[in-house]
Amino acid sequence: MIKTITDLDLHNKRVLVRVDFNVPLDDNRTITDDTRIVESLPTIKKIIADGGIPILMSHLGRPKGERKEKYSLAPVAAHLQTLLGITVHFATDCIGEPATTTVAAAKPGEVVLLENLRFYAEEEKNDAGFAEQLSHLGDVYINDAFGTAHRAHASTEGVAKFFVGNRASGYLIAKELEYIGGALQNPQRPFTAILGGSKVSDKIEVISNLLSIADAILIGGGMANTFAKAMGYEMGDSLVETDKVDLAKELITKSENKLIFPVDAVIADAFDANANTQIVDMNKVPTGWRVLDIGPKSVALFAQQIANSKTVVWNGPMGVFEMDAFNKGTFAVAQALANATTTGTITIIGGGDSAAAIAQAGLKDQVSHVSTGGGASLEYLEGKQLPGIVVLDEQ
Ligand code: AMP
Repeated sequence: MIKTITDLDLHNKRVLVRVDFNVPLDDNRTITDDTRIVESLPTIKKIIADGGIPILMSHLGRPKGERKEKYSLAPVAAHLQTLLGITVHFATDCIGEPATTTVAAAKPGEVVLLENLRFYAEEEKNDAGFAEQLSHLGDVYINDAFGTAHRAHASTEGVAKFFVGNRASGYLIAKELEYIGGALQNPQRPFTAILGGSKVSDKIEVISNLLSIADAILIGGGMANTFAKAMGYEMGDSLVETDKVDLAKELITKSENKLIFPVDAVIADAFDANANTQIVDMNKVPTGWRVLDIGPKSVALFAQQIANSKTVVWNGPMGVFEMDAFNKGTFAVAQALANATTTGTITIIGGGDSAAAIAQAGLKDQVSHVSTGGGASLEYLEGKQLPGIVVLDEQ
């Protein structure tokens, strides 16, 4: 088990914390969604309560190694101060004199936020010298940015090497490890995975890894079309990755019937919110039409499988959920997960589109865990080691 924030002595310590404050801002540099800041508050408050000084560092947007004011974290510092009701010192640079002076001036009970790490190209290059400069700003190190934990950057991986014996996860990463890690290492069974999204090519490694762990894998979204083609169905104008049809056949053979596919679909005569639609069995897609959602029989089949599971992990929408006409399958799966949660099933939503869908359905508080990292949760489900996590100390 990875050490967590509760395993470290934080009293009178400068606690260097990698947070994810990569929040959306409008043209006036007003934060339009502060979820990521709010989610980091428990870790920050714990450090304050223990008598430490949180020294927070994050990236924002893609300044590509250059100082660009529109990517400054200054508005985040102001907002954080309002949320916490305590002084947040903003260091106008993440290294060098502005950083060291600001950190030295902060007292226990106050917070420091460093300027955007990605104003330096060295951050994403995991430059050892840059990581060492960051390391001088703290006595202990906490990583609480799951969304970047799959990247070996200076603030996620390089810097941790300077804190042997004093590096742990914050509450957010600890929760990701508890839920996603728990499902992968020791799931309560039956364990069902639900995979969707546009392309099978993006999910091959997840399917391969989960075939050896899960009891069933439900496949929806555009990726189900490539499997349907592999089963010999004509898919009309549906999104099909023709170069992946043979691989889909192989996976079906290897899967020992663990893979469960849609039996019907909502089809449309154009990729358009106002297209004509109809519901057909999966093997009856006419020429000129395309599959844009799973149909009601598939929803019932998937909901039944979810209801019979003790652990469910979901990554990827069942259809083009951005358009009302094709969001029913995705929202029905979200509802099935919420229902299963009420009877004790552990329900885990991978980040990205599935997290957006569960939020849109108004059900994000009715599942066990919504991951804070799309790419990171996908790599975790692929069975990969996340560099920003494996570098932390074991308990
Ligand atoms: P991904 O980026 O692979 O996670 O896939 C998410 C995208 O898949 C969403 O934008 C959906 O609109 C899209 N999608 C889901 N089902 C289909 C489908 N049947 N045909 C085309 N796109 C789809």
